Amino acid sequence: MSIYSKLWGFNLPENIKICCWRFFRNFIPTVVNLSKRFTNAASTCKLCNGNSESNYHLLCECPFSLEVFNTLGLLLPAMPMKNQFLLWLAHLFESLQTSECLKFLVSIWAIWFHRNNKLHNNPQQRPIEIAQFVIQHLKEFQDSGALPVLQPSSSHIPRSWSPLPENYVKVNFDASFNSLNNCSGTGIIIRNSNCEIMASCAHPNPDTPNATFAEALACKQAVLLSCDLGFQKVIVEGDALSIINKIKNATVDR
Ligand SMILES: [Zn+2]
Repeated sequence: MSIYSKLWGFNLPENIKICCWRFFRNFIPTVVNLSKRFTNAASTCKLCNGNSESNYHLLCECPFSLEVFNTLGLLLPAMPMKNQFLLWLAHLFESLQTSECLKFLVSIWAIWFHRNNKLHNNPQQRPIEIAQFVIQHLKEFQDSGALPVLQPSSSHIPRSWSPLPENYVKVNFDASFNSLNNCSGTGIIIRNSNCEIMASCAHPNPDTPNATFAEALACKQAVLLSCDLGFQKVIVEGDALSIINKIKNATVDR
């Protein structure tokens, strides 16, 4: 049985399995993956400030993640070479008991969620807190008998959130502009119809001439990111009215 068949067979909420599947397939927007498109993106790991942040690093090298796994008592197989990542996962699923596999999968999701929170300047949590969160939610699954859709924190759900049409995602973008050095920054976050974060990124843009350009660039990067991740039904939302109006205008703006 392939690791993907095993993954989909675990009794976990779909959003957790989708997150893990994206990790295994390397479809997760780590900074290494983003830097393939945005060549200026820094590749430092958001959790440990260390090595290039790849899916391999986050699961097999990152001291933060390894401490989470260690705190949970997960006896993972010896860490693999990069080109043996999928073999390592297959061995892991073979060698761990089901309850341990569930801990591992929920940990991946919780670590990624925490990483995204940190990216947006939310308070840093310690590995032990992530581990406690994993234990708490696994217990809730077992106690409830149902499989609730999890959110580590409701504080990241926008107050103005309204349901999306089926199968749509919403892409929010924002830009900041520094006129002293003509640099801008882009923030992008993609949520599904349940308001769960599917992807997010922050991106520095040198050589930005003005604030309007920064907003237009952020919008373009948001659309490119959602295309890159394979989202086909997308609602793009930003607070730069002039940019939104120009995009909605079918005529050529000279
Ligand atoms: Zn790291």
